Order: sequence, then C-alpha cells, then structure tokens
Amino acid sequence: MQIKLSDPVEKLFMVGPTYAKRLEKLGIFTIEDLLYYFPFRYDDFSLISPIGHLQPGETVTITGKVESIVNEFTKNGRKVQKAQISDNTGKIEAIWFNQPFLTKTIRAGESYNFSGKCEWFGREKVLLSPEYECIKHQVSSIKGKNEINNVHTGRLVPVYPETSGISSKWLRSRIKIALEIFSNQIEEFLPDEMIKKENLVSEKEAIFQIHFPDNQTWAQKAKDRLSFDELFLIQLSSKIRKSLWQKKTLTKKLSVKKKDVDKVVDSLPFKLTKAQERCLNEILNDIGKDIPMNRLLEGDVGSGKTVVATIAAYAAYLNGSSTLFMAPTEILANQHFSTLQSLLSPLGITIELITGSRKPKVQSAKCKVQNCGKNIPKIIIGTHALLYQDFTTNEIGLVIVDEQHRFGVEQRALLAQKGKSPHFLTMTATPIPRSVALTVFSDLDLSIIDEMPVSRIPVKTWVVPKEKRGAGYDWIKTRIKDTPEQAFIICPLIEESESLKDVKAVSIEYEKLAKNIFPDLKIGLLHGKIKSKEKEKILNDFKEGRLDILVSTPVVEVGIDIPNATIMVIEGADRFGLAQLHQLRGRVGRRNLQSYCFLFSEKQDDKSLKRLKYLETTNSGLKLAEADLSLRGPGDIYGIKQHGFFKLKIASLSDINLIQKTQKAVDQILEINSVLKSRLEKYRMTPVSN
Ligand code: ADP
Ligand code: MG
Repeated sequence: MQIKLSDPVEKLFMVGPTYAKRLEKLGIFTIEDLLYYFPFRYDDFSLISPIGHLQPGETVTITGKVESIVNEFTKNGRKVQKAQISDNTGKIEAIWFNQPFLTKTIRAGESYNFSGKCEWFGREKVLLSPEYECIKHQVSSIKGKNEINNVHTGRLVPVYPETSGISSKWLRSRIKIALEIFSNQIEEFLPDEMIKKENLVSEKEAIFQIHFPDNQTWAQKAKDRLSFDELFLIQLSSKIRKSLWQKKTLTKKLSVKKKDVDKVVDSLPFKLTKAQERCLNEILNDIGKDIPMNRLLEGDVGSGKTVVATIAAYAAYLNGSSTLFMAPTEILANQHFSTLQSLLSPLGITIELITGSRKPKVQSAKCKVQNCGKNIPKIIIGTHALLYQDFTTNEIGLVIVDEQHRFGVEQRALLAQKGKSPHFLTMTATPIPRSVALTVFSDLDLSIIDEMPVSRIPVKTWVVPKEKRGAGYDWIKTRIKDTPEQAFIICPLIEESESLKDVKAVSIEYEKLAKNIFPDLKIGLLHGKIKSKEKEKILNDFKEGRLDILVSTPVVEVGIDIPNATIMVIEGADRFGLAQLHQLRGRVGRRNLQSYCFLFSEKQDDKSLKRLKYLETTNSGLKLAEADLSLRGPGDIYGIKQHGFFKLKIASLSDINLIQKTQKAVDQILEINSVLKSRLEKYRMTPVSN
C-alpha cells in the first residue's frame, strides 16, 4: 500500500521507533509534520572554493579527497580529530574536537564536501569543525526531479530547533528523504488566482525551498508563502468558529436598562472608570440580544474586570437567570467568591462556591440549609469542578470564565455545553495586542479596560545594576522589618514549564535568602510542585502577615491579592517578557500604599538593560506587550508561550501588513464559497424515479 503524508513518521525510511518517540517532543507525529517542521535559520555554506584559494576568516565549502584521518590527544588530554584533505589546487587540514567517531564515519581515500570556517591554527590555515558530506552519497541518491544534492554542505544549510537525541543534521537527512519521496503529495489549497495576485510560490515549492533553498531570495519566498498560509488559516478557522457560534441556538435576552444596574454600581465604594463603563455597556448591550455573546474582556490585573463581570451577573439575575463564574484555581475562586458576596449578598442574591475541596455533597447539604429553591437564580462560583456538576436548578444564562486559556481543551469543550447556549464572557489579564487579538481571536468580540482606577499609585520600578544588589537587600530589610509591609521574591523558570531543576534553583535561592540575607525575617517558599493544600496554607500565612517574604517561581496566581505586599523583587528579569514582568509587578501596589519593584538581571548588556528600563517608565500592560512584540517577537508575550494560547510557527504577528492581506484573502475565499453555496441552494434536484 502506498505510504501517505498523513502516515506515522515511523513509516519513513530510516526513522525507527526510538526516533519517532523523540520526534513527538517536537510535535512531529506524521510524515507531513516532518515536512512542516521549519528551520529557524540557515548556515550559509554556499561559497565554494578551491582549497588553494582559501582565505582565513571565510566560511566556505571545499570538495576534496581525504588523504588521512586520525585521533590525537592534545596536551591537556582532549581528543582531536585531524583530517588531511586535498584537491588539485592544494591541501588543508580539518580539525574537530572530541568527536572520536569521526575516524570511523569519514573514510580515507574518498571524496567529501567540507563546510565551515577557514581559520589560523598556529601558523597553519585549517578548517575548524567543518560539516562534512560524502560525495558518493549524491551519486547513489534517488534520481528524479525531486532529487536534492547536498544537504549539510555547499548550500544554505537549514538549522532546526533541536531536542535531545534529534540534531539538525539528523533532521536534514530525513527531511531530504521525505521531500524526495513525498513532495508530489503536497497539495495546493489556494486558488490559482490568489496565488498569482499575491505573488506567492506554490505550496510544494515553498516546502521544498524552506528546507533547502536555492538562495536567500528563495528562502524568503518560501517564508512569505508559508507565513501567508499560517495567518490565512488561523483567520479562516476563527471566522468559521464565529459563524458557527452565531448559528447556535438563540439564547435568552438578558436585557436591562442602565438604571437597573445602578443599585449595584451606586453601592460600590468607588466610581467606575470610563473604561469600565465602556466595557460594561458593551457587555450589557450584547447580552440584551438573543444571539449568544462571545466576548473577551481584557485588562491589567487590578483594572477592575471582576467588578464589571459582577454587574453582568447581576443583570442576568434581574432577568431570572443564573450565572456560572469559573476561575482557574481554588485561590482565585475563593477570592472571587468573597468579592461577589460582598457586592451582591446585601441585595439578597444567593452565591455559591464549588471547588475541588468543597465537594458537591457538602454543597447540596449546604444548599438545603440555605433553602435555595430550584427556580431562584443564583451565582455559582468555582474551579473546573463546576464542569462536572449537573446544573438542573436553573437556566444558566451567563457563563463567565476567568483566564480561560488556563483550562484544558477538554474542559473548555465541557464548558461550552453548559446551559442552553448561554452568553459567554471570557476575562484575561494577559495583555494581548490588538493585532494579535484580531488575528487569533477574531471570533471573539473584544473589550479592553485600558485604564487603571485612579486610586492606584503606580509601582516604582528600578532595574538594579549588579553592584547595587546588596544595597537593595538592605533597603528591603529596613522597609519590611517590624512593619506590615511584605515582599515577593520571584525566581525565573529555567525551562519552559516548571521542572525539578526550577524547584531546585528556587529552593537554593530560598536557603540563601533565609540564612545569609534576611536571617531575622520570616520567609516562605512556594513553587508548582508543592501540594495544593500546602500551597494554600503558605499563601494564607503570607496574606495574613505571618510571613514577611515569599520566595516563589512565577507560578503565584496572577490575580492573587495580598494587600500588604509592597515590594516585588524579580530575579533573572532578562528571562521574562516585559508584559510578564508587568503582571508580576501587578501583585504589589494593590492598596493605596506606595509599592516598589526591583528587577535583577543576569545579562548586563545595553540591549537587555534598555529593554527592562521600559518598565521604569511604562505602566500599561498592553503597551509593554506591544513593545515585546516588536522587540522579541510574539513568542515572548506573557501567557502566550507559557499557557499555550497559540504559538506561530513561521509568521510574525508584528507583520500588520500580512495580517491585513490574509484577512482580505479569507473574505475572498468565503465570498467564493457563499456564491457556491447560494448556487447550490438554488439548484433544484429532480427526484429520481425508478
Ligand atoms: P481585576 O479582576 O481586573 O484584577 P478587580 O475587579 O479584582 O480587578 O479589582 C481590583 C481592585 O480594585 C478591587 O479591590 C476592586 O474593588 C478595586 N476597583 C475596581 N474598580 C475600581 C475603580 N473604578 N476605582 C477604584 N477601585 C476599583
Ligand atoms: Mg482579578
């Protein structure tokens, strides 16, 4: 049977089960995945030179015969491999370190390409650690128009993101095979007309050239095409999601007049900001319709999203509907519970809390006691435990989800099934730049609270140079000793998600701080590997002032409210995105106390320091996210990489031009499609009679 692109990568010649397992770590499961695994840069080995013409400093490819290859030892015991190479213009030595296997893989008497840098080594010109590739290979490789000659030398050589046990060299040789055998199966999916108009290369050409480009121009053409594809497909799927959403069963209108909610608004101990009012109006307007709302409410920590959501829940209540309010952690669920209770209980509204540790049984018993009848609308707050409940008590008219991206795919699917097409409000403190929101979340309507309550004093922020670290610690000591004020000290993650290494690093830092720096203060330690009961206890101790300092990895819940925390110290600040630093900083300064943020950086170069200094002068998460986007690319926007919002493979979200182009292309495709659809509708089938 013919092997297909969609078959497991193991079916590919020269990929065994061990490697297939390793490839999974790179997200490669099928042959197609392998072809769509793109290099992030190229080594330019396209300059080909006769050996006699080599100049030190040049990066080149030579072709020559290996006269000899040997292992030697240097004076300090390192193994060196030396090969003598010649062509008809001269001779040169190639040198590698600690690769003793080379004397077996490179055979004397045969011809090879060598690519690398020509350098002085003592008084001799040599090639230092060059890539190599046997010439014979090329002759015996599969003939046909898909044939690729060199892959490691003599060209632009692709370099891929690697994982342990999978090198770029390994990937190159397998991708070569996959291209040679399967590229005829790569199908074009854009209409010819669009390809012409946008001046794109074909899909097959793009896949070929992204791996083994003829030259830089072709590498760019390939990248342009594949970036177009990526943004096009993301936007298309989000459009389709949107139209599916709009075709959902109509829902109950939760319409209120502005003055109906004044009862709550007026009871607040503060005035809503303009931004809060605008967002609230957008939400009330949406839920007043029978098309279910699907809106994202975005705002910095402390910008007052919860209050806005609470008023929306009140509007649902006024219409006789219940609200589900879901938070990603127990701590946050508890926090929301007490916020909503204080705001809405005085109005006689029943608020319930369901979390993992408050089991449903206890809950229903409690429910009986409180005499919640089946038809009294209420507000139910909880963690994902909510998803596994059967809510028959009342019609759920509104579902509010805090930091939805922190829930798993399965949980999100369950969530969508709650109630009969309820109105949906998602909240996030992740600052998502508008361009990103419009691309990736174009199925959602967007409300942004871009203004902080005036009562909040901006956190004073300093990037601390190495030599001032000691002084910084002293300052903190005097600030928190015998005062109610408290400090966070955050250590960066070493790997992408919290690992044992990180736990060790933060534990060592904790020991150091507790023993040497702050011996007379009470310090707590928090990281993701601590059990949730214990975590909650530590956070409570901190909240209630039994600890002066909390040392932690960045796992501390984003929204956590520690009123007396006024100092945020961030170690290895260079390892964070600006927006993420801003979010960490948002955990202090939650009351009217002047708060401070100290950024310690491992990197002391101008570029890193300049980037961090943005935080000294900018107080908007969104502005910082946008700066991140242009300085470091979208991968670094907080919450996106870490929480799997999405990860672009090749396109850049800072390429507004391409975003707009692909948006238009999507509209065009849908237009073609709708003409087709209406033709189909008009086409009357003649019944077949036998
Ligand atoms: P978020 O959910 O966006 O993090 P919250 O709604 O929890 O923010 O609000 C953070 C704090 O600010 C709460 O203590 C809240 O009572 C207060 N707050 C909210 N809106 C305002 C406002 N307009 N003026 C003053 N304080 C406010
Ligand atoms: Mg909050």
